[in-house]
Amino acid sequence: MSGGFLPVCRPLLPGADAVAAYLRRVDAARHYTNRGPLVRQLESRLARALRIPDHAIRTASNGTSAIEIAVLASAGPVRPDRPMALMPSYSFAATGLAVERLGYRVLFADIDPATWAMDLSAVAHHPRLAEVGVIVTVAPYGRAPDLAGAETLSRATGIPVVIDAAASFERLWERPGTVSSTVPLTVSFHATKTFSTGEGGAVIWDDPAGQDRVVQAANFGFNLSRRSEVAGTNAKMSEYHAAVGHAMLDGFDQRRADYAATVARWAEATARLPGRMHLPPDLASVYILWEAPGPEQRARVQAALEADRVDTRLWYELGMHKQPHFARPAQPALPVTEDLGARLLGLPMAHDMDPADMARVVAIMRRALGQEM
Ligand SMILES: *Cc1c(COP(=O)(O)O)cnc(C)c1O
Repeated sequence: MSGGFLPVCRPLLPGADAVAAYLRRVDAARHYTNRGPLVRQLESRLARALRIPDHAIRTASNGTSAIEIAVLASAGPVRPDRPMALMPSYSFAATGLAVERLGYRVLFADIDPATWAMDLSAVAHHPRLAEVGVIVTVAPYGRAPDLAGAETLSRATGIPVVIDAAASFERLWERPGTVSSTVPLTVSFHATKTFSTGEGGAVIWDDPAGQDRVVQAANFGFNLSRRSEVAGTNAKMSEYHAAVGHAMLDGFDQRRADYAATVARWAEATARLPGRMHLPPDLASVYILWEAPGPEQRARVQAALEADRVDTRLWYELGMHKQPHFARPAQPALPVTEDLGARLLGLPMAHDMDPADMARVVAIMRRALGQEM
């Protein structure tokens, strides 16, 4: 059995007709970026949907820049006495790259085998905390961010904490009022995420003064003038991206329903696979993950799928510490990260995935594992 190429991710953003109504508003206003009306209206609509105060959400040009400006607004740029940013290795490379842009050096911690996030109670007693200027926790694969844990950690250590919750927009949608006044969290609206503006992101933080600093950091450090007063960058969402966001929001209830139906079919199709499936709504709707019993099975299944033109993805690779840019001769031991990284495999997903494609994926996996058909 062999079919055409099956991509691991096949996003569908609002079509030209749906976006056009909003684009005409851009044409009329002749306001294209710098917190134009569509950006501000998108922030208000999102705030209402997430049941958070209007000031508690500020958009960004992407999820990576959202991390950058959240760190700038909370911890500030790097200080010589505290040059390290403590974070899990098990995340997308953006988490590390964002803080490096601000001069921090990454210090990787291991994750908890159940949550796949940093073990916050272990982090509270990390031996190198005295060198740490910011702690970036990650809500992996769109799981619910641990806001209370992050707040406690920040209070106990006195170190600012930022949560990279890039893929967790749905968890915020389902749990109205998920916001902290002390710990900013960031989300991504990249095309591969469930809610998308093409490229985009946001900082969610119930701190009006903090959000003013977020806006300032996103706009060259300007504050009501053209004077660059603090460290900044250009992290502003354009009106065009906001137009896509409005159209996406118009259809988001339907999109969530489509995903839920597709996830139910995936659950049924994979029920008898060895190892363990990790499915939405525990994860973001874009992730269907198979946890192999061991690395050998993962390698075998991955090769078999690839040979049959089914795309797979190690979304976080083997951890950032294994990537050439971040690799150091002397790494702290990260046994849980290494074990999980060697066993997780991202399978194809789309909100409108054909059940026949799921059956094809599962049949290839079963054959590769020597399971009775
Ligand atoms: C998607 C993602 C990012 C980066 O977001 P962009 O919008 O692509 O810049 C950062 N961290 C994690 C965990 C992600 O999944």
